[in-house]
Amino acid sequence: MELIVAKSREDLVKARRDGTVALVPTMGALHEGHRSLIRQARVRADQVVVSIFVNPLQFGPSEDFSRYPRTFDADLDVCRAEGADVVFHPDADDLYSADRQVGVSAGEMGRVVEGAFRPGHFDGVLTVVLKLFNLVQPDLAVFGQKDAQQLALIRRMVADLDLPIEILGAPTVREPDGLALSSRNRYLSEDDRRVALALSRALRAGAARLTPAEIRAAAREVLDEAGPGIDVDYLALVDPATFAEVSESFAGMAVLAVAAHVGATRLIDNVTLTLNPA
Ligand code: AMP
Repeated sequence: MELIVAKSREDLVKARRDGTVALVPTMGALHEGHRSLIRQARVRADQVVVSIFVNPLQFGPSEDFSRYPRTFDADLDVCRAEGADVVFHPDADDLYSADRQVGVSAGEMGRVVEGAFRPGHFDGVLTVVLKLFNLVQPDLAVFGQKDAQQLALIRRMVADLDLPIEILGAPTVREPDGLALSSRNRYLSEDDRRVALALSRALRAGAARLTPAEIRAAAREVLDEAGPGIDVDYLALVDPATFAEVSESFAGMAVLAVAAHVGATRLIDNVTLTLNPA
């Protein structure tokens, strides 16, 4: 099957076939992590739509919107190789009219942890994801655990707004040395890349401990030892459903999440662990 590139709702309607549709929303610069999402979509649905859109709404004024990597031709090759059926690649001017007023609020959960450092980010993410859901009308959508708070907020939006869409979370794909794949890794110099390994190392050190206090301390120690090349925004041990910090007595799944600047690049990573198992 030829890969179809759709720019508009009309193009999407024309490309739609009978059967189930899975959507994989991305900002392009596709890597092995995105590939794994497309593969999961392929297994689960009759038609796979990959959206490629660098969403201006989710970038702050001092963030990297204009220099975010854009590699559309290579992305099409990836989508073709992974058996996607449609690439939805709208223009920002078509998606966002100049007189638009209404958007999605991520609520309190959008203002904690990652949201505390990126005001408005999750409102922008949820607004574009809801628009993509309405345009593509998928039966299911696949998101990476790499962006754990984003995944949790999308599940929240689906529940709170009664969206008839199944959300699949996909595990984080890593380099052999532990670095989580990210479109932003291409900004890293060789030295930066070495320093960046402290993020996944810290998460592993935390995950090897048992209590919240020990987990936080062990991860913090690794980040502190990494030296001045890394500037940590947060290290958080949170309830995966609410992103509220967990107490010492918390039992069940928790997410240990970190964000840090390495050189000029901001990186995030997280692991899931189980606290106080019965
Ligand atoms: P992005 O293009 O960075 O907006 O990411 C698009 C989707 O790919 C999101 O659902 C991400 O969570 C997911 N993703 C990004 N990096 C990875 C990774 N290393 N492993 C798995 N999924 C990822």
